[in-house]
Amino acid sequence: MRYHILTLFPEMVSQGLHESIIGRAVDRGVISLEAVNIRDYADNEYGKVDDYPYGGGAGMVMQAEPIYRAYRAVSDRLEKPPRVLHMTPQGKVFTQQMAQEFAKEEDLIFLCGHYEGIDERVLEEIVTDNVSIGDYVLTGGELPAMVMVDAISRMVPGVLSNRESAMFDSFQDGLLEYPQYSRPRQWRGREVPEILLSGHHANVEKWRREQSLLRTKERRPDLL
Ligand code: SAM
Repeated sequence: MRYHILTLFPEMVSQGLHESIIGRAVDRGVISLEAVNIRDYADNEYGKVDDYPYGGGAGMVMQAEPIYRAYRAVSDRLEKPPRVLHMTPQGKVFTQQMAQEFAKEEDLIFLCGHYEGIDERVLEEIVTDNVSIGDYVLTGGELPAMVMVDAISRMVPGVLSNRESAMFDSFQDGLLEYPQYSRPRQWRGREVPEILLSGHHANVEKWRREQSLLRTKERRPDLL
């Protein structure tokens, strides 16, 4: 998987994604990450890439041409036209299922907006998917892109080791995961459920399945 992130803040993205599991996957070459600075494609010497909105109103709008050029600089190098994910609160809300679907791509371009957003015409020209991370408004698309890169990468073969397996994670089978416990056996008067100490694999599995259903019913009944 190769990620190409079009942004006004490339360092925010590359610094945020170079730690832990994702950072190690980059180091091992399982995924790659390119943060493309949209300002490098400005048509003026100041690197200015935004302007006032037609029709008036507050804030600034990111202009079409620098974004289009940044996009072409990436897409012209690729064998086939990539999916372009526009980070926007107006998009389809990102889910685990979408992470699995996007993980099948070889290349993904993320387009991060800022200020009031992006000139609609370039969005019409290059975007294949409008994606949101939830019904709230952030200052920029960088955090949503980082959230998605993290979730998608977990689905890319070779990123997670067996130890970090995603197989039983929440949402994988449409349910929330069962509760987890580690040592010590007793902590501040709270015991680990007896069944987990029994060594009886089938009973442990049965208990976990029940807990998973119970938890989903309590916390996210909409999933059932
Ligand atoms: N004026 C836009 C609107 O009302 O839809 C909001 C612009 S927002 C302040 C600036 C940028 O942050 C957006 O262009 C988008 O890239 C990003 N953004 C904000 N909230 C987001 C969300 N929930 N999901 C994905 N991207 C988001």
